Amino acid sequence: GDVDPQEKESLLEKDRKYVWHHMTAHNENPMIIASGEGSWVKDIDGNRYLDGMSGLWCVNVGHGRREIAEAAAEQMMKLAYATLVQSHIPAIELAAKLNEWLDGEYRIFYSNSGSDANEVAFKIARQYHHQNGKPSKHKFISRHRAYHGNSMGALGATGQAQRKLKYEPLGVGFQHVPPPYCYRCPFGQKKESCSLQCAKAIEDAIVWEGADSVAGVILEPVITGGGMIVPSDDYLPMVREICDKYNVLLIVDEVICGFGRSGKPFGHQNYKVRPDIVTMAKGLTSAYSPLSATAVSVELYESFKEKEATSHFRHVNTFGGNPVSCQVALTNLAIIEKEGLVKRSSEIGKAFQNGLEPLQHHPHVGEIRIFGSAMGIELVEDRISKIPASVERVTSMIVACKSKGLLVGKNGDTVPGYANIITLSPPLSSTDEDVTFIIETLLSVFGEVIEKG
Ligand code: PMP
Repeated sequence: GDVDPQEKESLLEKDRKYVWHHMTAHNENPMIIASGEGSWVKDIDGNRYLDGMSGLWCVNVGHGRREIAEAAAEQMMKLAYATLVQSHIPAIELAAKLNEWLDGEYRIFYSNSGSDANEVAFKIARQYHHQNGKPSKHKFISRHRAYHGNSMGALGATGQAQRKLKYEPLGVGFQHVPPPYCYRCPFGQKKESCSLQCAKAIEDAIVWEGADSVAGVILEPVITGGGMIVPSDDYLPMVREICDKYNVLLIVDEVICGFGRSGKPFGHQNYKVRPDIVTMAKGLTSAYSPLSATAVSVELYESFKEKEATSHFRHVNTFGGNPVSCQVALTNLAIIEKEGLVKRSSEIGKAFQNGLEPLQHHPHVGEIRIFGSAMGIELVEDRISKIPASVERVTSMIVACKSKGLLVGKNGDTVPGYANIITLSPPLSSTDEDVTFIIETLLSVFGEVIEKG
């Protein structure tokens, strides 16, 4: 191992005493990750794991990128900080670069996290309507199962009760509609005769809430953390039409789907829609430094320009868009471009599709859903009834993967019946050997489950 047993015990003791872990109950024996290289991380005992979730869907270019570390160090020595009340070179260059990645022209507002980026989107949307004589337009429509962040507004937008209970009241004005979940269509429709009731549910929500009260719709192109819910191809274009019809802004959360994960620069580009606002974080820097951005269409931005001071966007963020994070993002995007990682993402997804073909008939696999290189494997008790796999079954598979050196994720919290989707989202820089390792590990874990019955 990398540290001796005594040192390990002392680390664990301090961890137990001082560290409050995210999202877990009291974790008495956490994995202590010590280093990372490419798609692999190593714990302090020297065990290697393939980081099948890229951390939390974020380390798109893989671990151990020296060029990013060097860019950060250089920038820190040149200029560690400047506010964006003024401007600085990395912020300017990054905003221009993001405009190359996006379709159409957007103004870029920087902050630190995906949650921040969504809060900014909500505030800009409300102020936009205010300045256009529609101050009553303040509500947002979101979907059940969606996750949009941990702050009061972003949590309001989130459609997962278990993350919200005990923290209410949250930001108000968020209404939720059923997601485009074809495997378990909330409207009982069949693929062949689908009339997109899930998209019409958004229109219904706007109509019955009152179009004059609705500011925007927020959605991920594909619901990722909430279970890899991939809509049919005509869903997002229809939502765009509905938004246009009612003067409702379309906010697309690209925090996970962006930066190549989907096989396109941004997830929404798979559906050829143009959002009014795009929020991004995670893969923007591949998590080497905290940074997020809210991209606002020029048309929207225009209503904030050349007006009296009272119509400025009243929002400041001390660390947001700091020179170091922006320089890290620029270096990260240069790597994605140079190594062709957007295309690589699709190749990884195709390899999953082919390599996991045998699982399509597995008694506990309901459906495998792939978007770019992100994948959800929906586990069931049996394929006919589609009863969601038990918490024990899901947990045992995740533990088995880990014991074979593969870290995977799952959707949502441990609510029985709702946390039955195993997720993978490996670094886009994963080698063919890495991808083969993921496939073989999954086949072997699922094979053992069949044998055990
Ligand atoms: N939006 C989506 C779709 C996310 O998955 C997340 C984080 N998992 C967020 C927003 C919030 O990002 P952060 O944790 O950086 O605040």
